[in-house]
Amino acid sequence: MWSFETDEAFQAELDWIETFVREEVEPLDLVFRGPGDPWDPDSPAFAAMAPLREIVKTRQLWACHLGPELGGEGYGQVKLGLMNEILGRSRFGPSVFGCQAPDSGNAEILAHFGTPHQKTQYLQPLLDGEIASCYSMTEPQAGADPAEFTCTAKREGDDWVVNGEKWFASHARFAEFLLVMVVTNPERPIHEGASILLIEKDTPGLEILRNAAVGPYVETGDGVHGYLRFTDCRVPAKNLLGEEGKGFLVAQTRLGGGRIHHAMRSVGVLKKAMDMMCERVLSRTTKGELLANKQFTQEKIADTYTEITQYRLHVLYTAWLIDKHKEYNREVRKEISAIKASTPKILQDVVYRAMHIHGSLGMSDELPFMNMWTNIPELGIVDGPTEVHKIGVARAVLRDYEPTNDLFPSYHIPAQYEAAMRKYGHFLSGS
Ligand SMILES: Cc1cc2nc3c(=O)[nH]c(=O)nc-3n(C[C@H](O)[C@H](O)[C@H](O)COP(=O)(O)OP(=O)(O)OC[C@H]3O[C@@H](n4cnc5c(N)ncnc54)[C@H](O)[C@@H]3O)c2cc1C
Repeated sequence: MWSFETDEAFQAELDWIETFVREEVEPLDLVFRGPGDPWDPDSPAFAAMAPLREIVKTRQLWACHLGPELGGEGYGQVKLGLMNEILGRSRFGPSVFGCQAPDSGNAEILAHFGTPHQKTQYLQPLLDGEIASCYSMTEPQAGADPAEFTCTAKREGDDWVVNGEKWFASHARFAEFLLVMVVTNPERPIHEGASILLIEKDTPGLEILRNAAVGPYVETGDGVHGYLRFTDCRVPAKNLLGEEGKGFLVAQTRLGGGRIHHAMRSVGVLKKAMDMMCERVLSRTTKGELLANKQFTQEKIADTYTEITQYRLHVLYTAWLIDKHKEYNREVRKEISAIKASTPKILQDVVYRAMHIHGSLGMSDELPFMNMWTNIPELGIVDGPTEVHKIGVARAVLRDYEPTNDLFPSYHIPAQYEAAMRKYGHFLSGS
């Protein structure tokens, strides 16, 4: 059964979310521009968000990705997709609705693998939006290839002793706890020899060397991506999440959802760019006529609309597949990788077009395009570079095909023609 319709009751919620985000949430983007504002519990933005979060909770739209047992609505991915494409309009959208990264994924890991004590101390305040958390895997010398990871944890008595460095650990400087991927058995291949430890923020031996930022900030060191060093950092053995050596299995709990939620929010950014572009071309005159009447402009509008519609349907189809299979199986992973890989490309094309059509105003700090533009490369890197996802898609696609042992391909026309003639050739001769 195929359907492209949203049920009436949920559409009413979406309409409410749209108005709320445009009127109450988007203004936060203009006032609070610090790199950590939407996530840092000590930022003034947090106080400004508090009443909005209460409204969202009362409306039962808080942390909708979570099941009812964790206080969410258990919305499937299709509904989340439709919600997230509205939240993506604002940097604060996810935080106001309790589904911000990396906390949403970290909460899922804690819910699955945390001890009762960890759930009380960390999971509940995280779900309530009172604290921030960090997920730290990337190292200065290795990101896309985990086999190069060298940050180790060795078991000594009742502790794990961690030594090594981590890089681009988002939100580390205001996180209450960090989930850190460490090599616990260097003798084994990394997917069988790495584990995840919960490390509390003030644990001796954990040091933040620097905080890098994305983009050209005037003052360096104010970013939210921590460069961490662990020196004989002792972590209680009970802080191991999941089984020893199964760190990547544990990490899967968060990555699948995270990747598709990024894509859903990107739909929001794309639509916002198109909205601005359309208003502009209907308002700006050059050579005696509206920009909208120029064929070059019409091509830009048509391409933008078509590309966004195709991308959006691919995202929603993938969401629908996840809802159907209820797991991140091979088929689902192929589609997630495909949309993950196509996200930076479509953003690059659409945001560039929208910015370009606004001329000098478009690239000034009086419109949001340069901000959108700076964020695009991030989507080709975070959660795995585009190339790695494309490799995954190609492998998954090729798995459904067989090679031929013949000299010519199975679709070689001369051979097909002979077979077709044997079937229908007699009609030509009339016999
Ligand atoms: C904004 C932002 C936030 C982040 N937050 C976090 C976080 O919270 N926690 C965390 O652990 N990490 C985080 N990261 C890091 C991110 O996960 C890594 O940047 C990513 O995995 C790539 O690793 P790398 O930066 O070391 O790049 P590298 O692994 O050095 O890759 C660099 C480039 O090499 C090429 N390449 C790599 N592998 C292949 C391949 N197999 N085939 C062909 N080409 C290839 C690609 O062009 C790739 O872009 C964040 C990154 C960004 C940008």
